[in-house]
Amino acid sequence: MVQWVKDLLELQNVDMRIRGLIQRQAMIPKEIANLKNDAASADEELKTKRENANKTTLEIKQLESQIKQKNDHIAKLQVQSSMVKKNTEYQAMMKEIEDIKAAISDLETSVIELLDKSEQSVADFKEVEKQAKAQKQSIEEEIKELEQTVVEIKEEIARQQDARTPLSSKLESDVLNRYNRLLKSNGMPLVKIDNGICGHCHLRVIPQTLHEVNKGAVTACENCGHLVYV
Ligand SMILES: [Zn+2]
Repeated sequence: MVQWVKDLLELQNVDMRIRGLIQRQAMIPKEIANLKNDAASADEELKTKRENANKTTLEIKQLESQIKQKNDHIAKLQVQSSMVKKNTEYQAMMKEIEDIKAAISDLETSVIELLDKSEQSVADFKEVEKQAKAQKQSIEEEIKELEQTVVEIKEEIARQQDARTPLSSKLESDVLNRYNRLLKSNGMPLVKIDNGICGHCHLRVIPQTLHEVNKGAVTACENCGHLVYV
């Protein structure tokens, strides 16, 4: 292998490493944003469960207050009934008291049902709260790790860029300029010709190109312009 190819391959290794690091780094903000979204959803679910638990407690309080009002009403009617002279009026009052008692009984049944429901919603809330706490903790840890990864990537990029300088100084400026231009596009600037096929565009190169390459000259694929070697 000719010297310029050896030197350029060494430089290209470093540049491909830098390219990979930059690509990895670019993905991290989106990953962090997704994690933050997950945390927000967990909070939202927790809020709904808490509201459900509170709503049932409030419903129970309202029913209990209605029961109390009805009991007070019965007590009042009982006092009044003792002072009533007409039998029909007395009977009517007793009937009203019975009706109120029946209504109280229905309300009490509802309270019992709601107490079951309340227990269930409190248990649901506690469970979700536990899960949300664990989830948020693991999300925070993941975010910290990703932030640490960014720091490490930046350090590694700096190291690789330092390594680049002595490697590029070994190359002729013409080769280096062509290489640096190609580095801005996709794929590797310097590719191997395998069985007459360019490693970048995968087209067959003309015999003239192959001839130049075999001589060790700095040559580009006539189809894609990438530098080639054998
Ligand atoms: Zn090509």
